[in-house]
Amino acid sequence: MHAEVISIGTELLMGELVDTNSSYLASELAKLGIDLRWVSKVGDDFDRLKGVIDQAWRRSDVTLTTGGLGPTSDDMTRETIAAVLGEEMTVQEDLLEHLKGLFAGRGTPMPSTNVKQATLIPSAVTIDNPVGTAPGWWVEKDSRLIIAMPGPPRELDRMWTHEVSHQLRERNPNVAIVTRTFKTFGISEGGLNEMIAPLFESENPVLGIYSKVDGIHLRAIATARTDIEARELIGPMEAEIRSAVGDSIWGEDEETPESQVATLMKKRRQSLGIMESFTGGILASNLAEVPGHREFLRGSIVTGSRDVVERMGVPRELIDRFGEASPEIAE
Ligand code: ATP
Ligand code: MG
Repeated sequence: MHAEVISIGTELLMGELVDTNSSYLASELAKLGIDLRWVSKVGDDFDRLKGVIDQAWRRSDVTLTTGGLGPTSDDMTRETIAAVLGEEMTVQEDLLEHLKGLFAGRGTPMPSTNVKQATLIPSAVTIDNPVGTAPGWWVEKDSRLIIAMPGPPRELDRMWTHEVSHQLRERNPNVAIVTRTFKTFGISEGGLNEMIAPLFESENPVLGIYSKVDGIHLRAIATARTDIEARELIGPMEAEIRSAVGDSIWGEDEETPESQVATLMKKRRQSLGIMESFTGGILASNLAEVPGHREFLRGSIVTGSRDVVERMGVPRELIDRFGEASPEIAE
């Protein structure tokens, strides 16, 4: 099963709004083993939106849209889906009553523009949205799907988690995806690539290489019928990676430099005091994010001032000799 995501809204094209919805859906689809092939962003323009939805309808098993379900005239997701499928939108009395009820609960009359939120086409059923006014649309025709969800991330998250994801999982059963990340430091991206070049030819698990602030990450993704089988697929690749570049691997998966420092400190039963200058305290701040940091982190002094360092008991001649930010002074 392969999918496509369309994020809808002119704001997204103006650099004002970052499209977090599509990255959220991308990571969720990966967990379901659904192959995401395209992500597009399109403004609130009927013809362009229709063009993008039409293309998605023709090429993708599942099309997920976010945004444009609101009541205003620039919200046109429903209208364009209806146009692509050549179906007519009709007002559903039960939906309309429900919508009027929501407004009555807020003590205001319902603006007439909201009526379109109570419409459906023959191929669509609504998807509940208890945290907003606009229900989603679950459109199914010729064994293809369009799932139209709201733009506000809170509403999208709720709808995806409670209404959409399990239905898609049922349609794409027996797929387990396991991802393992090996985080390295000290070898360049090109160097690493060269050292394990043959592994990049593997199709399952597939191996990717990514440059990050904390080093170069190697990520293996395996697909199988079960979790255990997927893990077994990664086993031999992990062994090869470790034997080739094991010394440069400082962590895996969710591990961070600070969580690794914490693990080592606890294992060695050591404690840590920090003096930081020029950093604004970032080192201590990062370490303080690690659960259980109180077991080893004694405290931090953030200063770039020689006077402060001297007042803490470091002899002036050492400071003059090594400079206040130096391993000797820290020691
Ligand atoms: P509403 O009924 O609130 O108008 P809607 O489904 O019409 O919902 P939009 O009007 O497209 O959604 O977007 C509403 C708000 O949701 C945006 O102003 C923005 O804050 C947020 N939003 C929309 N799309 C995205 C996106 N792709 N990524 C992150 N946030 C988004
Ligand atoms: Mg809107």
